Amino acid sequence: MTDHQQHILLVGAGLAGSLLSVYLARRGFAVDVYERRPDMRLAHVSAGRSINLALSTRGIHALREVGLVDAIMAIAIPMRGRMIHGEDGSVTFQPYGKDDSEVIYSVSRGDLNRRLMDLAESYPHVRIHFQQRCDGMDFAARAVHFTDEETGAKYTRSEDTVIATDGAGSPIRQSMETTLPFNFSQDFLEHGYKELTIPAADDGGFRIEKHALHIWPRHSFMLIALPNPDGSFTCTLFLQHEGDPGFSSLDTPERVRVFFAREFPDALALMPTLEQDFFSNPTGALGTVRCFPWHVGDAAALLGDACHAVVPFYGQGMNCAFEDCTVLNECLDDFGTDWHRVYAAYQERRKVNADAIADLALENFIEMRDRVADPHFLLTKKVGLVLEDRFPEYFIPKYSMVTFHRTPYAVARRRGQIQQAILEELTRGIDSPEAVDFERASRLITERLRPYAEEAGSLR
Ligand SMILES: Cc1cc2nc3c(=O)[nH]c(=O)nc-3n(C[C@H](O)[C@H](O)[C@H](O)COP(=O)(O)OP(=O)(O)OC[C@H]3O[C@@H](n4cnc5c(N)ncnc54)[C@H](O)[C@@H]3O)c2cc1C
Repeated sequence: MTDHQQHILLVGAGLAGSLLSVYLARRGFAVDVYERRPDMRLAHVSAGRSINLALSTRGIHALREVGLVDAIMAIAIPMRGRMIHGEDGSVTFQPYGKDDSEVIYSVSRGDLNRRLMDLAESYPHVRIHFQQRCDGMDFAARAVHFTDEETGAKYTRSEDTVIATDGAGSPIRQSMETTLPFNFSQDFLEHGYKELTIPAADDGGFRIEKHALHIWPRHSFMLIALPNPDGSFTCTLFLQHEGDPGFSSLDTPERVRVFFAREFPDALALMPTLEQDFFSNPTGALGTVRCFPWHVGDAAALLGDACHAVVPFYGQGMNCAFEDCTVLNECLDDFGTDWHRVYAAYQERRKVNADAIADLALENFIEMRDRVADPHFLLTKKVGLVLEDRFPEYFIPKYSMVTFHRTPYAVARRRGQIQQAILEELTRGIDSPEAVDFERASRLITERLRPYAEEAGSLR
């Protein structure tokens, strides 16, 4: 059977589902996407969760493959590094990469999703059906159950294969949980999040540095801010649900104001609608979803948050979901429409990496809220960039491997641990990168990273 004769059913036209439908349409498949929400291009529908997202190399690579990169880059704001707002009112800039080519991009989730849907529907054999809620799947019968949210009508659909891009609460995954030997875990953090706003200046300009991701690290909690094209910033407060301070104890406008005045006075001065935003915006939960297997024979597979939702502290959830699409597309190159082999290969290539980015994201929470203000941490970051400059074939900082390269996440995590141990040894007792003993650095790097040289090809 040739590609174009096959029909694929996708559940969820979020970021991953919309992108995947384009990849599949380009191969000639007929694709029907069923989405629970109304069409966000027609109605005023929130794209859900964060208003803007950090887009980086893996996501950009996928957008380039489907021909959307220029359109998205035109609406994206480069962020060159972290702007740290200290407790003493100090403001310091930490570049993310070795130069201005290594930046991440703030992009509107809604705009990105809308443009992906437009591109998908520009293919005559892609159709997105809105307000159609998936209720689960019978894998033996290959039947997906739906409810029409407008009429309440219930119906089933059956296609050659089904890919669930229906997010962290995936009903298809829930069906797998009940019908298979299936491992599943969902671990929530004690912390939740709330979105707030720093509006644009009166002249439409940015009130704080435009080309940075701002962080107010406060040890057990933090505030961050990402720029929007209209001059505003979307801020996110990450804080424990319970305790003091905690979302539960910030229960009056006065308490919220007192908390911000104490912890983030410079941000508070830029947030005229703080109390209103705080009580009208929901408090979101943050969790990690892990599961296995990711597919049922050739009948169905999970992709994106449906099989590996991660906490947002590495800015990789969407980037990882986009990379899933890239890899699934490669598996289609390798195995054609033998869906069982395609899904098995995709699962084999992605599961270990999804587990790694889940761990990296949890680890980065500690780094962002606590360590970014620590002088020793800053020194190791600087030394890491110097070592990359001197030993580029062996040493690439972990953040760079994850964010600016397409190094498999599992490789980045393993090499990152070895590199961190080297950095700790080299920075013991010194206070500037110039004081590093580079002969020792060369020896340590060659000894410990050379065994991984065969992976070096995957670093760049
Ligand atoms: C606060 C926060 C900040 C983040 N920041 C970043 C960042 O900076 N960079 C980054 O890369 N990632 C970030 N992420 C992660 C990113 O949002 C997700 O990884 C990404 O949205 C996953 O895409 P997805 O398509 O798999 O799932 P989703 O975007 O959740 O899309 C799922 C789609 O399925 C639909 N759906 C759900 N249930 C049904 C149903 N029953 N029937 C039909 N349709 C259904 C939904 O309506 C939705 O359209 C962040 C996440 C959070 C919470």
